[in-house]
Amino acid sequence: MIPGAFDYHRPKSLDEAVALLSQHGDEGRLLAGGHSLIPMMKLRLANPSHLIDLHGIAGLAGLEEEEGAIRIGAMTTQAEIIASELLAAKVPILRETALQIADPQVRYRGTIGGNVANGDPGNDMPAVMMALGAAFLVQGPSGERTIAARDYYRGAFTTALADNEVLRAIRIPVPPAGHGAAYAKMKRKVGDYATAAAAVVLVMDGGSCRDARIALTNLADVPLLAEAAGQALVGTTIDVAALDKAVQAAVAITDPASDLRGPADFRKHVAGVMVRRAVRRARERAGG
Ligand SMILES: Cc1cc2nc3c(=O)[nH]c(=O)nc-3n(C[C@H](O)[C@H](O)[C@H](O)COP(=O)(O)OP(=O)(O)OC[C@H]3O[C@@H](n4cnc5c(N)ncnc54)[C@H](O)[C@@H]3O)c2cc1C
Repeated sequence: MIPGAFDYHRPKSLDEAVALLSQHGDEGRLLAGGHSLIPMMKLRLANPSHLIDLHGIAGLAGLEEEEGAIRIGAMTTQAEIIASELLAAKVPILRETALQIADPQVRYRGTIGGNVANGDPGNDMPAVMMALGAAFLVQGPSGERTIAARDYYRGAFTTALADNEVLRAIRIPVPPAGHGAAYAKMKRKVGDYATAAAAVVLVMDGGSCRDARIALTNLADVPLLAEAAGQALVGTTIDVAALDKAVQAAVAITDPASDLRGPADFRKHVAGVMVRRAVRRARERAGG
């Protein structure tokens, strides 16, 4: 399949990219790794007349630690996330998740910014960002603003990002030492999107759970932060009763479509299995 005709732009700065977006409105679209956008264009599900390639802008890729947080540039690829020793030491759930995205070819090209900005409920990183309490730093005509990951997703492919804004980086608070985290994903085959997946980040203290956040992938139009599920673990040793309660609370907020990945009831069931698996794994990994 061949995409529709478009003009190609390669701005050298974020300001230039923002100006191009402002100029072309609905007709302009940012291009990062292209591994979501180009397939959509080939299927004619997206038809931008102006493609604005972010690869010419210096400083949009890379990772650094800053004041208790890690800042990841939007153009950092999923392969770079996997290779990062800093992330392996401080936020290992990102590596675990990136390894479950697509295949190596996609991961060499696909970016973390494209994955979270896209608004596809099937993307894996958004739920992880919610569970980590991440914030998205976006640049528009009047400067930079921050949007919490939990407030970013409004509907399938609909987000809080304005038409003329660019996601420039993600800020992730470093979870405390001794935290445990896990991403559990069920997919039909390598390279597939999730039938259901769960991200869990929790902190144990003296054998009791001090904090827990659970978020879900591909179980509604948007990634879901399962707040009641996380709360069901807090103050417990994460015994069987608490885990059952958390699973129940998480499944209760899901609303998956019946599709090629299975009927909705099956996907809800898998959601519960993924939450249980991710909580157990995170608990094992946590200190305290
Ligand atoms: C075969 C295959 C299997 C896949 N499987 C999975 C999977 O299992 N899990 C998963 O999570 N993903 C999967 N993907 C998608 C892949 O991870 C994409 O790379 C990713 O979703 C988008 O990143 P990108 O850099 O390619 O973005 P692009 O495709 O370039 O852009 C995607 C969208 O985000 C916008 N965008 C990009 N960057 C920015 C920015 N900095 N600011 C604002 N908007 C921006 C674009 O305008 C576009 O609308 C798969 C892709 C393929 C081809």
